[in-house]
Amino acid sequence: MSARIGIIVGVIAVALAAVAFLFFAPTMTASVGPSVSASPSTSDSASASASPVRVTGLAPVAFGGPEHRNGHPMVYLTYDDGPDPGSTDLVLNELKTLNVPATFFVLGMFMQTPQEQQLIKDEYAQGHSVSVHGFTHGDMLKWRRITVVKELNTMTSLIPQLTGATPTCFRPPYGSYGKAVLVEAKRKNLRIQLWSIDTEDWQLPGVDKMMQTISSQLVPGSVILMHDGRGHGRIASEVTRRTVALAKSRGYEFGQLCPMTKPGETASPVPTPTSTGVPSGLTRPGAVS
Ligand SMILES: [Zn+2]
Repeated sequence: MSARIGIIVGVIAVALAAVAFLFFAPTMTASVGPSVSASPSTSDSASASASPVRVTGLAPVAFGGPEHRNGHPMVYLTYDDGPDPGSTDLVLNELKTLNVPATFFVLGMFMQTPQEQQLIKDEYAQGHSVSVHGFTHGDMLKWRRITVVKELNTMTSLIPQLTGATPTCFRPPYGSYGKAVLVEAKRKNLRIQLWSIDTEDWQLPGVDKMMQTISSQLVPGSVILMHDGRGHGRIASEVTRRTVALAKSRGYEFGQLCPMTKPGETASPVPTPTSTGVPSGLTRPGAVS
């Protein structure tokens, strides 16, 4: 009796051992295998690095900015196509009165005369960001890569010459970009910063209509697009004044969307926005920047 039981127990033990081997042996082999073979393998290390390079080799693209700071909803003012003497001044004066920061996406072709260059210096001195729009106002999606490179090289040299600080944001004209722009912007450590609320001021819709647009689309993280260039400063300054009053009445604060890198700073200042700030239903800005 005890002998039979011993045989049965022995058979069960052998069976369990066999099952255990079948189950665990492949697992052990799999877990050990790669770590042993990966280090001498060039193909593994190549494929491991290729994927991240492809992803991180493109500049990040943002429509909005960080949604909250210290519990407050945030909104961001941006002005394109300047500087423009007689127009940009009006916006700068309004911003100074209101004591809110903004970002100016500037054009190199308008940074040539002493008056134009003084406006760039004033923008930076008054706590605003001078960011890259372009040298000309061409559609970069249609350009050869070398032209994109030349334009970004010029702008990332011109802005520090006048301000002593380095831009971190780039808004391609018309919000139009392809892979060449994404790659070259990344090389310059520039974030592609688009917008989430288009006032369409270039179509001269009137201040009331622009305020309706802003009022109905304002959400935490919104980036408002206006123009100080091409003579739009008077309208932009009025809309700015009313926007600040409106947003503050809803508890919003105004933030710096594109802080510039000051001399001696080494850390990358390019933040990744926590949200797009894009109202539902809007996936891409529509008009002219
Ligand atoms: Zn523009």
